[in-house]
Amino acid sequence: MSKDPAGDKFVVPCKGCVNDCTLVIVKDEHGVQVFGNHCRKGDAIGKEKYRDAVPVPVRARVKLQGRLFGLRVRTSAALDAQQAEEVRQYIKTLTIQPPVQEQAVLIENIAGTGVDLLSDQTKK
Ligand code: SF4
Repeated sequence: MSKDPAGDKFVVPCKGCVNDCTLVIVKDEHGVQVFGNHCRKGDAIGKEKYRDAVPVPVRARVKLQGRLFGLRVRTSAALDAQQAEEVRQYIKTLTIQPPVQEQAVLIENIAGTGVDLLSDQTKK
């Protein structure tokens, strides 16, 4: 995947079938648009590739010991798709002991990514 240094534009080969189309993915005021695709599957693949290429904070729920519902958590910064997946897998293994303060740092440098895992719970 190549990214245009001037903006949010990616050029990627589509591997959806043997036609081997080249997708141009652009993010502008109209949202994410895919060009160069010859079918709707290519449009979906292009949008998925854009989502994977743009770092986002991870939001998930962590098991709270003795509670029915999990605690909402988020990372302190955005992560790329691979790091985000590693963090999600790590979060699945966690069980937190209540009570937890709002916006508390639960784990520093989670899964070696350099970002912290924070409590994102707003309700008490
Ligand atoms: S855009 Fe459609 S036709 Fe082109 S390679 Fe992808 S799946 Fe095949």
